Amino acid sequence: MAAISSPKGIGAIAVIRVSGTLSWEIVRKILAKSVEVEPRKVYHNFVIDKDGQVVDEVMVVFYKAPNSYTGEDMVEIMCHGGFVVSEMILELLINNGARLAGPGEFTKRAFLNGKMDLTKAEAVKQIIEATSRHAVKAISQNLTSRFYQMVKQLREDVLNLLAHLEVEFDYPDDVFIERGYLLKMAEDVLSKVEKLLSNAENRLAVSSGIKVVIVGKPNVGKSSLLNALAKEEKAIVTEIPGTTRDLIEVPITIDGINFTLVDTAGIRTSNDKVEQIGIERAIKACGKADLILFVVDATTELDENDMRILELIKDKRYLVVINKIDARDFVDREKIKQILKTNTHVLTVSALKKEGIEEVEKQIVNSVKDVILSTDGYVTTHRQYEHLLECKRNLVKAFESLKNSVELDMVAEDLRSALKQLDLLTGESYTEDLIDKIFKEFCVGK
Ligand code: GDP
Repeated sequence: MAAISSPKGIGAIAVIRVSGTLSWEIVRKILAKSVEVEPRKVYHNFVIDKDGQVVDEVMVVFYKAPNSYTGEDMVEIMCHGGFVVSEMILELLINNGARLAGPGEFTKRAFLNGKMDLTKAEAVKQIIEATSRHAVKAISQNLTSRFYQMVKQLREDVLNLLAHLEVEFDYPDDVFIERGYLLKMAEDVLSKVEKLLSNAENRLAVSSGIKVVIVGKPNVGKSSLLNALAKEEKAIVTEIPGTTRDLIEVPITIDGINFTLVDTAGIRTSNDKVEQIGIERAIKACGKADLILFVVDATTELDENDMRILELIKDKRYLVVINKIDARDFVDREKIKQILKTNTHVLTVSALKKEGIEEVEKQIVNSVKDVILSTDGYVTTHRQYEHLLECKRNLVKAFESLKNSVELDMVAEDLRSALKQLDLLTGESYTEDLIDKIFKEFCVGK
């Protein structure tokens, strides 16, 4: 199979890859100079068409199985970039017996030939698609198979526990293992999974956008603040309180970090049904927030609605943003601070005049540093997360059964189910459907 691995368009170099036992045989046929090829050496040559006419000047590398990306014999042809020349070379390869590769087929073969596990294959796709430096940093860890090693260690631990139970099955008259000892082992494994899961939540937040929810009474300037941070008009700004009824989500990037800004309906007591739904959603959105921006209006005194909102968010991570400081007669910042009795950052802005916005951006990044910088666990896809979660459920069941002195074979069954989930996570065991689903989303040539 063969494909162009570089993006279409004007560029210095394009790469065409060929994989399979006949790779070199096929490539040889379109080269002008004959080569006694040795693996992993770069050869200068010319590609010629069927009439012997030169198509392009190229560099060619041959990789011998299993020492290649796919684990098969492979050839890489570096030709000149552009819209046409690489297509012409690919066409020549096809005419000489190669087949066009499907999406992600190189990586799929690498997985099937044992060159990488599924967490690494998924990282390959994600690193190509990464849109921020932080995402790259997080994902690149999985390219080194670090997460795979962690899951493998976890698997060993579960297996070890299972082995202890099995000794007792095999020699019921001679062996009795202290339940306290087994419980301790189970507890250790469980806490490892829990740690991976909690890191996973941070990781997934980084790759899909850290959630920053803007809350405050109607008319304090939430939509205006969202627009100022998004640098474009996304939310409708009106003077009628209660107009932002639905949640508005806007992706933004600060310092190369992806955030999702969420503008909520003003939280206050409401009898209007539609607005009530909006308010409920706002309260819900706060629950899922990584950070909350609590906006208050500098032109009016704080009232019980502000305090009610503060009560809702006080145990979460939040920043106070005093808006409308451009207006004359604004309420003193220190006074607001005193009333709120908060020890978080209190920022002053004019969303309308776009003043103080940079400081808000700076504090947003500062407040979520721990989320971004956690370097311990490397779950990067929801698929991996789900298997880990299911593994935890099975381990919890096993742990509870051990505690309640349930028959050991029941415990063993749960442990085997937990192992199965870890194997599905890494691809140690898989179904055709799963593999097709994962690789069909790759680009052709990867
Ligand atoms: P929301 O209901 O909290 O989303 O508030 P909006 O963003 O819709 O703003 C409500 C009103 O306050 C609008 O008339 C805005 O023009 C006004 N407003 C928002 N931000 C500022 C500001 O920084 N200064 C002044 N003077 N007015 C503002």
